[in-house]
Amino acid sequence: MSRVRLLVFNPVLSVLDYRVPPGVDVQLGNVVIAPLGPRQVLGIVWEPDRLDGTEVPESKLRPLLEVLPVPPIAEPLRRLIEWTADYYCAPLNSVARMMLGSMAALRGGGTTTEYRLSGLEPARLTPQRAAALDALQGEQASIRELAELASVSEGVLRGMVNAGILEPVTVDLDRAYPRAQPDHAQPELSEEQQAAADQFIAAVGAGKFQTFLLDGVTGSGKTECYFEAIAAAIRDRKQVLVMLPEIALTENFLRRFEARFGVPPVLWHSSLKQSERRRAWRAIVSGEAQVVVGARSALFMPFKRLGLIVVDEAHEVSFKQDDGVRYNARDVAVIRARFEAIPVILASATPALESLQLAEAGVYQKIDLPSRFGGATLPHIEVVDLRKDEPARQHWLAPSLVKALEDRLARGEQSLLFLNRRGYAPLTLCRHCGYRFQCPNCSAWLVEHRLSRRLACHHCGHASEVPEACPECHTPDCLVACGPGVERIADEVSSLFPEARIAIATSDTLNSPEKIADFVARAEGGAIDVIVGTQLVTKGYHFPELTLVGVIDADMGLEGGDLRAAERTYQQIAQVAGRAGRGVKPGEVLIQTRHPEAAVIAALAAGDRDAFYAAEAEARRDAGAPPFGRWAAIIVSSEDEAEARAAARQIGGARPDLPDVMILGPAPAPLSLLRGRYRYRLLINARRSAQLQDIIRQWLGALAFPQGVRVAVDIDPYSF
Ligand code: ADP
Ligand code: ZN
Repeated sequence: MSRVRLLVFNPVLSVLDYRVPPGVDVQLGNVVIAPLGPRQVLGIVWEPDRLDGTEVPESKLRPLLEVLPVPPIAEPLRRLIEWTADYYCAPLNSVARMMLGSMAALRGGGTTTEYRLSGLEPARLTPQRAAALDALQGEQASIRELAELASVSEGVLRGMVNAGILEPVTVDLDRAYPRAQPDHAQPELSEEQQAAADQFIAAVGAGKFQTFLLDGVTGSGKTECYFEAIAAAIRDRKQVLVMLPEIALTENFLRRFEARFGVPPVLWHSSLKQSERRRAWRAIVSGEAQVVVGARSALFMPFKRLGLIVVDEAHEVSFKQDDGVRYNARDVAVIRARFEAIPVILASATPALESLQLAEAGVYQKIDLPSRFGGATLPHIEVVDLRKDEPARQHWLAPSLVKALEDRLARGEQSLLFLNRRGYAPLTLCRHCGYRFQCPNCSAWLVEHRLSRRLACHHCGHASEVPEACPECHTPDCLVACGPGVERIADEVSSLFPEARIAIATSDTLNSPEKIADFVARAEGGAIDVIVGTQLVTKGYHFPELTLVGVIDADMGLEGGDLRAAERTYQQIAQVAGRAGRGVKPGEVLIQTRHPEAAVIAALAAGDRDAFYAAEAEARRDAGAPPFGRWAAIIVSSEDEAEARAAARQIGGARPDLPDVMILGPAPAPLSLLRGRYRYRLLINARRSAQLQDIIRQWLGALAFPQGVRVAVDIDPYSF
C-alpha cells in the first residue's frame, strides 16, 4: 500500500488519508500514529471505500509516522464497529475507541513501576501521609493512581518514596496468566444439563454462528452447562468472552470458575488498574487470555481467536449503555458472534420478551432447563396485600412478613428482604416549612444515607452533610425522612428482633471485591440472619440456608410511564425469589403489594411465566413497542435551559412527516436536569419496516446547533 485511509481518533475529524513511507509495511487494521497539524493522532487503517473521505491528491498527503507494535484489528471486528456505529447512529470513531481499551498498551509490553508500603514507619506523619498509608493497605499502584486513591498530591507520594516509606515494585506487563485446565473439576451433569452442554460443545467445534437462548429457572445449573462449552473452547485453543451485567456478580462467578478450571479467568472492567488493563489487553490481543470475563466494555476487545461468547443474565438492563455510545451489549454480542462466525449463548431465567420472540421465530435456538438442579424445588410464592395486611405507621413490614421472619429466626434459617432503594429514605423534608432537599445538579431528591451521615444524589454523586437545622426556615431538628430505603428496613428489623444479625447489601456497603467476598463468606457460613439488599443481591448468589425472601415493595418499579416497567418488575422479583430454597430446605417468597390484581403480580403468584409473557406481548403489540414496533429517542441537552429548549424545538420543527413513523415531543426528559444539563426529549415510534436510523440521520443531519448543545440518539431505548 502506498496510501492509506485512516479512521482517526479526533473529536472533529474521523477520516484522513496519508502516504505510506517507503519500506514501511502497512496492513488493513493496523493501529498507526499520523501527523495532524502540529500534533499527532492515533488511527486505524481502514478499507478506503468503506469510509467517506475527500480524495486528496497524492502530492498533498503527509506520511504516516509509525505503525504500532500490536496485531492489526481483524476484519470481523472492523465490520462490527461499522455495524454498531450505523445501527446506533453513533460516530464510528467513538465506537472504535472502545476496542482500544488501554491506549498505553498499544506502545508495547515490558515493565512498569508501581509502589507499595515498605513497612518503614514514617518519622513525621502528616495528615496527607496518613491518608496515603490508609488508602494503601495491601495495595500497589502507580503514583498517579495512588494520588487518586488517597486524594493526595503526587508530590506527597514522591516525598514518601524518597523517605523510603513507599517502595517501588517492577510489574511485568507481559507476565503470563495461569492456564485454565478444562478438565480440572468436571461435574457430573444431569441429563438435561448434558443435553444442553452437548449442543454447545458441538457448536463450538463447528465454529459457525449460532445463537442459543439458555432458558432455565433459577438454580437449574445454567452456569455448569456453559462451563462445558467454555471447556470445549479451551481444549480447541479458542478464546472465550463471558459477559456479566455487573462487577458485583463477578466475585461469585470467579470462585465457581476457579473451582471448575483451577485458575481465575482474565478480568476486564472499567475499574482495573492501569497496569492490569495493559496486561489484560495485551493478553487478549495475543490470544494468551483464554477466558475473559467482563462487563459491557469487554465486548469490543480485539480477541485473536474468539471462539465463544456467553452473556449471562442476558435480560439485565445494565447491558444497555446509556451514555456515550448508547448500545445494547446483549444485542451487539449476537452481532459480533455473527461476524466472527462463532456461537453465542444468552443465559437467563427471565429472558427479555425480544429474545423469547426471536427464539419462537426460530432465529435463536432455545434450550430449556425447566427444573432446579439436584431436586431443589422452586419456592412457594405468596402475595401480601398491604391494604389488608397493613404495616404499622412508619413501618414497612406487614404483620405476615414479620411473622415469617420470626419463624426463620427461630429455626436458624436465613431471610432476604429486597428493596431496590439504597440509603435510609428517598426524600427528606422539613416538618416546619416543607422544604425538600433537592440535588443542585439534577431534578432529583437527595437520598439520606444514615450510615455515612450524608444526603446524596443517586444520579450525579453530589453529596452533602445532613444539617442540624432546615436550610430554609432554620428550625432545628425539624427534618423528617419520607419513605423507606434499605437502611430504614434494616432499622425496622433490628427494632423488632434486636438479636438478629443483619447485613445491608448494596453498592454502598459492598463496594470492593474484598467486602463482597467477606459478605458472601458470612452469608454462606450462617453468620447473617437477615440480608436487606437492593438488586445487587438478587442474582447469582447461592445461600443454602436462605429460605425466606420478602419483597418490600413490588409496586415501586411499576410506577412511571416506562414501557418495560412490567417486564423489569417481573424479572427482578422472579430473580430475587430465585434466591430462596436453593438448598435442601424449601423456600418461601412474600411479595408485598397494593395491586395484587396487576398482571405481573398475579403471574408471579401463580408461578405462570407464560401468562405474564403473553400479557406483556399483548400490551406491547398494542403500544407498537418492541419487538412489534420500534422506539428511538432523541435527547437534547445543554447547560443553558433556554438553549436546550430552543434546540429541541428546532428538531421538533424539522420533523419528517412519514406514514409509518410517529413522533412525540419535544418535552422535558424524565430527568429534566441531569449533572447540570437541561434535557429535552423526542420519542419516535416506528413500524418495524421503517428505516428508522436513516430517517433520524437525515432529519438531524440537516440541522446545526450551538456549541453547548448535545444531541444524542438512543435506538431501542430502555428507560423512557
Ligand atoms: P443457575 O445459574 O441456573 O441459577 P447454577 O448454575 O447457579 O444455576 O446452579 C445452581 C446450584 O446447583 C449451584 O450451587 C451449582 O453449583 C449446583 N449445580 C448445578 N449443576 C450441578 C452439577 N451438575 N453438579 C453439581 N452441582 C451442580
Ligand atoms: Zn445530582
